[in-house]
Amino acid sequence: MLPRLGRPRLLALTATASPRVRSEIVDRLGMTGARVLVRDADRPNIWLGVRHAATASDRDSLVLRTALDEPGPTLVYGRTRTHVETLAAALSEAGRTADVYHAGLPPSLASYYQEVGRAGRDEEPARALAVAYQGDVALNRFLGTAPGPSRATIRKILGAVGGEPVSRHDVASATGLAARTVSRALNALVDVGALCSDAHGYRSTGVDERAATAALHERRDRLQTLDRSRADLVQTYADSTDCRRRMLLELLGESHPDRCGACDSCEAGTSVDVGDVPLAGGQSVRHSEWGVGVVSAVEADRVVVLFEEKGYVTLDTAVALDSGLLVPV
Ligand SMILES: [Zn+2]
Repeated sequence: MLPRLGRPRLLALTATASPRVRSEIVDRLGMTGARVLVRDADRPNIWLGVRHAATASDRDSLVLRTALDEPGPTLVYGRTRTHVETLAAALSEAGRTADVYHAGLPPSLASYYQEVGRAGRDEEPARALAVAYQGDVALNRFLGTAPGPSRATIRKILGAVGGEPVSRHDVASATGLAARTVSRALNALVDVGALCSDAHGYRSTGVDERAATAALHERRDRLQTLDRSRADLVQTYADSTDCRRRMLLELLGESHPDRCGACDSCEAGTSVDVGDVPLAGGQSVRHSEWGVGVVSAVEADRVVVLFEEKGYVTLDTAVALDSGLLVPV
């Protein structure tokens, strides 16, 4: 689209986005020499906390009690539509007016922080409490995985795209597939190099169906690993006894070595300042097995690193550095 418009000056805007997402946007839009402006994502008026529940019913009663105790407006999040409906019904029964909305959010800490940001827009004090239950983490791992185009879809699309450029619309009418299915499959096929796209449309690169399918499987596995590691990171956040705001903000590419003073860990006195920890957010490191990664969050004794192949991995900082497993580069 951009070359067709004569490559005009381009402004791309996002809500809260991690450094990885930011650089992906710059790449995908083909922006060269992009000036990236990031506003501090900190919302210091929002208190952060986590409570742990042993069973699903403990989780629900904890959620309901918390919501009923809050005097002001409250947003209650649940992983599935059914769960949201059950919670809303229980709140109504307890005399609290509750409306239902479920958008099917991807499970990640970045999206969690985005949702948290709906609180305290008036800059008055607000509270964000996550109720952690092991079963939900397993569900998140499951829900996080997008299936990718089916074999039949790949066949139809490769059959409809040849050496002459064709548009998305052409491919949709030639294959009879839904526009959304076509868009997703075309993006995936371009991603793995089975098709190429330019101002005139999509063209084949001569990659056959078999090779394209194999490449798509590999791509799906890679995305799956990343999605699962993102879901696991929610567990790392829930289990942390260190400053919660620091972890959320560092994952978004900000450096916050000091304690925030407005989360449950800081209140409990278990948070520590990490100014003298040998690794810092954004720093590149090399792992002896997983290659180069970027430090995504630093705690007193743990570090979260994003590796291309492995996704987000939480490591014991002292063990990883002392053994030479992880080397700053
Ligand atoms: Zn804190």
